[in-house]
Amino acid sequence: MRALVLHGIDDLRLEDMPVPEPGPGEVLIQVVACGVCGSDIPRIFTKGAHRYPLICGHEFSGLVTECGEGVDDLEKGAHVTAFPLLWCGKCPSCERGRYAQCLDYDYLGSRCHGAFAEYVKVPRRNVLRVPEGVSMEVAAMAEPAAVALHALRRAGGLSAGEVVAVFGAGPVGLMVAQWAEISGAGKVILFDVAPDKCALARQLGFRYCFNASETLTREVVDNLTDGLGVDIAIDAAGVPDTLTGCLEAAGIGGRVVLLGNPSADVLMPASLLSQTMRREISIVGSWNSVYSASGNRDEWQVVLQSMAASALLLNPLISHRVTLAHAPGMLRTVYEKTQTTMKVIIQPILG
Ligand SMILES: [Zn+2]
Ligand SMILES: [Zn+2]
Repeated sequence: MRALVLHGIDDLRLEDMPVPEPGPGEVLIQVVACGVCGSDIPRIFTKGAHRYPLICGHEFSGLVTECGEGVDDLEKGAHVTAFPLLWCGKCPSCERGRYAQCLDYDYLGSRCHGAFAEYVKVPRRNVLRVPEGVSMEVAAMAEPAAVALHALRRAGGLSAGEVVAVFGAGPVGLMVAQWAEISGAGKVILFDVAPDKCALARQLGFRYCFNASETLTREVVDNLTDGLGVDIAIDAAGVPDTLTGCLEAAGIGGRVVLLGNPSADVLMPASLLSQTMRREISIVGSWNSVYSASGNRDEWQVVLQSMAASALLLNPLISHRVTLAHAPGMLRTVYEKTQTTMKVIIQPILG
């Protein structure tokens, strides 16, 4: 099979690899669509991966091609996606069903081979059926959509009418904003430094999207909340300015959620820390998503059902579609930011 294989930092090659063989309890999936995640860019170009050689890619959908021993509930050609975290099943976190916190996990596309390839091998317990009517491209966005939903849930639930600010209007930020709207937010305020991203946010119906480099966060928020500040602020970018922006935006009793992977140390002005204390702001971390091996109503099921009901507008988030052959150039474009990109989808099935 053709695969994009990472051999070291900034050493990505399109190569022929053997098609993986599904062992007992495993499923072989022909990859139709695989999204490029923000985390893939440092993995490929700057920080590196846990092991080499590695096939990246963890946001995917595809067709069941072959089932290993003991898997008898998926037919050939079934449309599927997958939870990319392979939990150990033995550690204290797994015992409590908190797979995202597994102490001894593997991860498709970061610790073991992922889906920037024609085929990927996945344990059956990680595989989910894509509901009818949901396109494979949209299904490939189940992972970031679940991550976005989880972040909002980490805020401790959203009561109808609450005001939410999202810092970072990339694909995940816009998914958080959509979940906030679906959950009954009174207002959703977005901040980004890229004018194109704000423009897309407005096209999606978010009238309050502001260029964070041209406006003062708290001023904007004060104007829109009668000086009260927001109830929930979500850092979907992970840069120092977005974290401080969240704390500035949050009102009394506000909740701040850390979602974007941190890109640098943050130096906090004492005055802002003092405000955080006075306003009794809660800061919570968010990591991955809640997945249930037994198919209970976890965040992934909510995502897939919302996709089927067209409650999430995910197609407009796709800015580029490329074949495996064109993917290295596209990944570099994302890294070097020579073009504004939103969700980039690699289509290995097309070559
Ligand atoms: Zn991802
Ligand atoms: Zn575990």
